[in-house]
Amino acid sequence: MHIGVPKEIKNHEYRVGLVPAGVAEYVRHGHRVVVEAGAGEGSAISDERYVEAGATIVPTAEEVWASAEMIVKVKEPVAPEYELMKKGQLIYTYFHLAAVPELARVLLEREVSAVAYETIQLPDGRLPLLEPMSEVAGRMAIQVGARCLEREYGGKGVLLGGVPGVARGKVVILGGGVVGTHAAKMAVGMGAQVTIIDLNLNRLRYLDDIFGSEIQTMHSNVGTIAEQVLHADLVVGAVLIPGARAPRLVTREHISQMQEGSVVVDVSVDQGGCIATCHPTTHADPTYVVDGVVHYCVANMPGAVARTSTFALNNTTLRYGLALANKGLEQAVREDAALALGVNTYQGACVYKAVADDLNLEY
Ligand code: NAD
Repeated sequence: MHIGVPKEIKNHEYRVGLVPAGVAEYVRHGHRVVVEAGAGEGSAISDERYVEAGATIVPTAEEVWASAEMIVKVKEPVAPEYELMKKGQLIYTYFHLAAVPELARVLLEREVSAVAYETIQLPDGRLPLLEPMSEVAGRMAIQVGARCLEREYGGKGVLLGGVPGVARGKVVILGGGVVGTHAAKMAVGMGAQVTIIDLNLNRLRYLDDIFGSEIQTMHSNVGTIAEQVLHADLVVGAVLIPGARAPRLVTREHISQMQEGSVVVDVSVDQGGCIATCHPTTHADPTYVVDGVVHYCVANMPGAVARTSTFALNNTTLRYGLALANKGLEQAVREDAALALGVNTYQGACVYKAVADDLNLEY
């Protein structure tokens, strides 16, 4: 198959759909890979590395799209890319189609097949192509939270690990899923005092098993949340109720009662946030202060560490991408139910029910 990798053109997107090792795998399986010049720049990958891996570099996006049977990307196509799509083409990327009805219309009109990273789902309900970004965001939450606690950034001037003779910083993590677990790993590694609050007792049992006495686990309820949050130096919001808006667990009143210079990092801001005073921010201007508490609420945290994120994403996208290229879409989805759930549009039809329902499309 002929694979195309264009440079991402969405604002502040520095990741790239394939890394050189991925290119080499496609080439090894007999496919041809064309990469747009500079596509890897944002992730510190040079054109030369792609050439060494067996790719052909072309100067423009038009040339990538013109001949590719499958396009491998990171973000959903944006308006200038709509014109470049060809009938019968397969696009393998994050789509979040319910949020972009115009793109859904274009895909249907142009009879383009959309395989969405975010809807590929394993039989146990896990979303394997979202997990790496949660891992990145969880680990980053502590890195940015520690930085925000510094005086220079508006924080109270607390070092999370403390030093001998001085108390450690107190980190409270709301939600012990993928984000929460990775945040806990970083916080424990830095020597902080860590509490994870979750609704799911089995999850708390698991966390207690893997972290032992390095963390404290607490069941999520109004009383526990207030008690823990009010005394925290750093609160990380990491809850998720699949398909729903995040529950508002931390109220404005909690925030006003926290110590001045404390920090909240609401990773769940992309689902509306679990801290009442949170609103989405950008990497260009990531923080603001409410009642003396520093808020960090960037909705696409992994973008700041594009290189790590690109490699993490490629580790999980490659096997499904190779299956699509090796077997063709129809055969690949017949053999893999998880991949089949990734198909959102096919030959002019919307074939993913939740998207069809959200956009009032025929299913
Ligand atoms: P996950 O499903 O792995 O974990 C969510 C956890 O929240 C679960 O353990 C669940 O039991 C718990 N939970 C649900 N309701 C709760 C409640 N009332 N109290 C306490 N815990 C509760 O999800 P995840 O992958 O860790 O993602 C968490 C959030 O981070 C999501 O909203 C996701 O979209 C977001 N996210 C944001 C970014 C970013 O850049 N901002 C990046 C990746 C993920």
